[in-house]
Amino acid sequence: QSSDDALPEGATETERLDKQYVFGTWSYQSEVSPTEVTGGSGVRFTTADGSEYIDFSGQLMCSNLGHSADTVADAMAEQAREGAYFAPGFTTEPRAKLGEKLAEVTPGNLSRTFFSTSGTEAVEAAIKIARMYTGKQKIISRYRSYHGATAGSISVTGDPRRLMSEPGVPGSIKAPDPYAYGSTLEPMESLEYIDEMLMLEGDTVAAVLVEPVVGSNGILAPPKEYLPRLKEIAHDHGALLICDEVMSGFGRTGEWFGCDVFDVTPDIMSMAKGLSGAYAPLGATIVTDEIATHFEDEMFCHGHTYAGHPVACAAGLAAVTSYQDQDLISHANRVGEYLGERLEELAAKHPSVGETRGVGLFRGVELTKDPDERVPFGHRSDKISMGSTVVDEVSAAAWEEGVYVGNMINTLIIAPPLPITEDDVDEAVAALDVALEVSD
Ligand code: PLP
Repeated sequence: QSSDDALPEGATETERLDKQYVFGTWSYQSEVSPTEVTGGSGVRFTTADGSEYIDFSGQLMCSNLGHSADTVADAMAEQAREGAYFAPGFTTEPRAKLGEKLAEVTPGNLSRTFFSTSGTEAVEAAIKIARMYTGKQKIISRYRSYHGATAGSISVTGDPRRLMSEPGVPGSIKAPDPYAYGSTLEPMESLEYIDEMLMLEGDTVAAVLVEPVVGSNGILAPPKEYLPRLKEIAHDHGALLICDEVMSGFGRTGEWFGCDVFDVTPDIMSMAKGLSGAYAPLGATIVTDEIATHFEDEMFCHGHTYAGHPVACAAGLAAVTSYQDQDLISHANRVGEYLGERLEELAAKHPSVGETRGVGLFRGVELTKDPDERVPFGHRSDKISMGSTVVDEVSAAAWEEGVYVGNMINTLIIAPPLPITEDDVDEAVAALDVALEVSD
């Protein structure tokens, strides 16, 4: 039995039931206090007490299309009525057409997709495909990364969420990052380190796995030349490049995918979140023609009951078509520039803002105790921590001002739905302006 202590006075029946019967994720259950959401529209959502919030984080950086889009809802309802589920051995129009659509919007010769139901599974499939294709086992990933929660994907995750699962799946090796606030390692130096790691591991590494623009670990975009050089280094050592685009994909960076910012086509790409605009649990792993061809005569030894679920694929097809029809990628690029400028104004005004960074509608505001020495606010020390109490307090103050903005590792994570307007940005930035007084 969990205690009701964390629930506020006047909690709704739904909040009480949820608190008692449902696990809260990544948390001490005694501290969980679920807030009932009753609906959303566009870039805003409403809680049970009638309050409305700007969704400045796009929920978990996944509501790329905004809330309650009829196009997606109608496509899902239609598919559910016609036939909600058929086994993966059969095909349906949404699945086939979404496969074709992904080959169209992803870069280069990425062409054949394995569908799953989450980012975690998309990464698991990417790892498994790399191992089957290369015949090698090891995966190099980086410390400032998150790749998912299951055995394989948490093992290749670099952030503290991996610690409870260690030692994890053998062969998961961590490399240094191209950039972190306060780090003394130059981004391109970190590549030399990876080059050396690949050499020292011998011919045993299947792939190097990176988020092209790091998401939950603080929105970290490497220099332009980093990703192309990383691909070269990986290939020189017979390893593949896997880009995890679960968070950075589908317009988030102002391009279709994070790797488009760097003009790089990876060998394998994992996707989820924005793929369905968060209307349905949907993950996807796309591979190059070359890898696809390999499996013509080699068993593709992988699958799930809900691989290519028709309703989820209908949501994905409608969402990706909406990004195209509404020209949302270039909209995100344009409004993203404006967002970047407005956040810079906050940085100039508030001493506790160490740095703002990012691309498109994918921005981080890193807080600091001391901008000169780049000292982070102390992390909560009693638990595996992804942040500090101070940045939590800033998020809470923004909530009071009508803006939902999540945070990780001392950084406010800004990733609103792509249709956000400049007026919405102004409203949200005004709220942050007030909220940041808490940390100044
Ligand atoms: N990969 C990246 C880059 C992510 O940001 C996430 C989730 O935040 C995942 C994988 C895992 O996705 P999911 O939570 O859908 O399993």
